[in-house]
Amino acid sequence: MAVERTLAILKPDCVKKNLQGEVLAKIQKAGFRVLSMKQTRLTKEMAGGFYAVHKGRPFYDGLVEFMSSGPCLPIALEKTNAVADFRTLIGATDPAQASPGTIRKQFADNKGENIVHGSDSPENGRIEISFFFSESELI
Ligand code: UDP
Ligand code: MG
Repeated sequence: MAVERTLAILKPDCVKKNLQGEVLAKIQKAGFRVLSMKQTRLTKEMAGGFYAVHKGRPFYDGLVEFMSSGPCLPIALEKTNAVADFRTLIGATDPAQASPGTIRKQFADNKGENIVHGSDSPENGRIEISFFFSESELI
């Protein structure tokens, strides 16, 4: 299995609930190495651009509203098989469908406000990391 990079975002609901440390601890205990992290607040334009693949879907406007509603923490992660392993760690999009022990099952309220983002392919992992971080910040 290859060493991959994936982008996590601790979403605005995670920050509002003050769960950043607990969620990051689970990520680190699962073997992910933090290459870089920051706190930022997305504008609607940035949130819309980040989730452009979902433009036109019924949840898009609410998603853009939510992701720009407060600070979030993008985190660039590295690990063998990072993309799939991170998606296993966070669980299904809808916490009601997520497996026991996953981050979304443990902390998320609903399908929209679901605590954390994870990239869906190694290629998107690299693209999404570059949305937030420059090469010199990935250490
Ligand atoms: N989302 C939503 N309703 C849906 C599907 C998705 O509000 O029916 C939101 C949710 O915050 C999700 C994000 O849009 O995390 C991106 O959707 P995607 O299908 O890519 O889910 P993910 O990859 O985050 O599990
Ligand atoms: Mg996705």
